Amino acid sequence: MKGVADLHSHSRYSDGTLTVADLVTLAKSRGVALLALTDHDEMAGLAEAKRCASEHGLQWVSGVEVSAETRRTPMHILGLRLDEHNPALQAALHETREKRKHRAQRMSDSLAEAGIPDTLAGALTYAPNPDLISRTHFARHLVDSGVCHSFGEVFSRFLKPGKPGYTKQEWLPMATTIQLIHGAGGRAVLAHPGRYELDQFGGVDALLREFTDAGGDGVEVVCAAHHPSEWAQFAALARRFGLLASIGSDFHSHAESRVKFGDLPRLSPNLKPIWHDWPEAECLYA
Ligand code: AMP
Ligand code: MN
Ligand code: MN
Ligand code: MN
Repeated sequence: MKGVADLHSHSRYSDGTLTVADLVTLAKSRGVALLALTDHDEMAGLAEAKRCASEHGLQWVSGVEVSAETRRTPMHILGLRLDEHNPALQAALHETREKRKHRAQRMSDSLAEAGIPDTLAGALTYAPNPDLISRTHFARHLVDSGVCHSFGEVFSRFLKPGKPGYTKQEWLPMATTIQLIHGAGGRAVLAHPGRYELDQFGGVDALLREFTDAGGDGVEVVCAAHHPSEWAQFAALARRFGLLASIGSDFHSHAESRVKFGDLPRLSPNLKPIWHDWPEAECLYA
């Protein structure tokens, strides 16, 4: 059987729970032939991932999921097939990771005010890479320490905008992010477009228009964060805006991920895939 592509996944270098080696082994065992590791604001796992992919005979795409914003609306932009040694991109991501550390302290302070002490220390026990601290690490701590029963409860009670553990954070501007990804030779893909708070835009169409006008290359059409009914909606929007289409499970962990590697449907043949001119994507057609 032909292999499938999965261009969105996380390891312990950000908020995934698997080591890079285990992630690559799992992807291979589930029939993934073209894989990208896209840790949040962090490219430190890419060299190891490339090595593991080559050992397993997997085609490899370097990646990163950049925390960005436009009109004060946070969004995630995947940089795919880029040079992870690019100094400008590395410097920008380093700055974002520093901001994450300050944000984590603010989150912890604000949770303490709400009566839940010491959550930063708790979250850090779940963060194997202390340079990359995410709301996910707080969520794991709040569930395992019995404050909440589930991730859903943590986010809806504490970590969403307007809730006690949520503090505002400025991320890289969307246009700057796209430029940085292009500067590193990569393609910029808007991740899970169905999952944003779009009050400032009046709808996802306007966000996609702005992303396209800023030079964005592609959009995640098939991903676990979307309901299957949204796949057709985003396929239509990709065609309307002339964006390339991408696919990814956004795998974080066995326990937390909604779909398994290899279980997403293939992209519709009437979309132009983000990998359309990548030689390593031959494995999807052979
Ligand atoms: P951060 O980048 O630190 O703001 O954290 C965002 C991460 O939290 C995402 O990448 C997801 O892994 C996770 N996340 C966000 N919202 C939810 C949710 N409602 N349920 C579970 N995980 C979520
Ligand atoms: Mn995440
Ligand atoms: Mn994301
Ligand atoms: Mn992700």
